[in-house]
Amino acid sequence: MYIIYAHKEWYNIVAATQNAVTSKIFIDICSMAEKCLHVAYDACYAHNLPEEHRFPMLKYELIPGQLLHEGTLTNANFFSPGICKDEVVLLTHTPQYFDKLKLQQLSAKEQREIGFPQSPALTHRELQITQGTIDCAMYALKNGVALNVAGGTHHAFAERGEGFCLLNDFAIASNYLLREKILDRIMVVDLDVHQGNGTASIFKNEPRVFTFSMHGQHNYPFRKEESDLDVGLPDGIEDEAYLDLLTMHLHQIIAVHRPQLVCFQAGVDILHTDKYGKLNISLEGCKKRDELVLNYLKESGIPCVLAMGGGYSADIRIIVEAHCNSFRAAKLIYDL
Ligand SMILES: [Zn+2]
Repeated sequence: MYIIYAHKEWYNIVAATQNAVTSKIFIDICSMAEKCLHVAYDACYAHNLPEEHRFPMLKYELIPGQLLHEGTLTNANFFSPGICKDEVVLLTHTPQYFDKLKLQQLSAKEQREIGFPQSPALTHRELQITQGTIDCAMYALKNGVALNVAGGTHHAFAERGEGFCLLNDFAIASNYLLREKILDRIMVVDLDVHQGNGTASIFKNEPRVFTFSMHGQHNYPFRKEESDLDVGLPDGIEDEAYLDLLTMHLHQIIAVHRPQLVCFQAGVDILHTDKYGKLNISLEGCKKRDELVLNYLKESGIPCVLAMGGGYSADIRIIVEAHCNSFRAAKLIYDL
């Protein structure tokens, strides 16, 4: 069922997908449906990078392609988000930094820290992904869960980007929901192998947003920020110990803080196959992580917006399979 096809065939599926999922007709079908799993995606998510670039950008084409191919999702599930408005971005990021992004004025050093060469297309992509997370948050409040095929860009600070992150989508969405007085208690559950340093920094003086990061203690960033709860994991931790720790901490913080929405960063760089992560989590363990979080949030009646985060296994099929598991879990658990 979850066979991933060779790239050539993928491109055929994806080419058809891209035309279909960006059509407004499909958005309308989904919004008219009583219950629907909303998934944010646009062809621009798979941004063109120089050849041999180490970021696996192709995953953003392969994930929707696989989910359509196997029948987990149909075209009706996808919507193409608009562009996040400047005034919404500026609730989180400084005008100086945002101007540099828009005017292509990042220095060579700033671009090196981000890891992508600047371009108008890249800025446009980030604004669209960010709006995808905002829209997914709104859909999650209605249906329990919604997912963005990209996002979870947790290394973006208010005044700079780093680690493949330019805009902090969870922070922008949270600040938007707070400003609009839609919510007043939000939690970020960041389970990428890298600490959510940008998110921790942005919300360090914001009591309405609780930041939880469970990450490899010896992974980048080597200078950690302070989240509301940081759990630094030892190298080589395996499934059982990892899932036990997650269960314990998740139950505690949910009981105490009772968030009205959880922003779940479901990075798959916790896998033992990851080139950068130092943990020893199996594909099955990563799947159980997603199921554990989603099951618990559903039982607790807390909506969840899920974004992808990182994943750097050498074999892109493993990255795609692990990310697809998040969508499969959401569909099954929420019966959407
Ligand atoms: Zn990561």
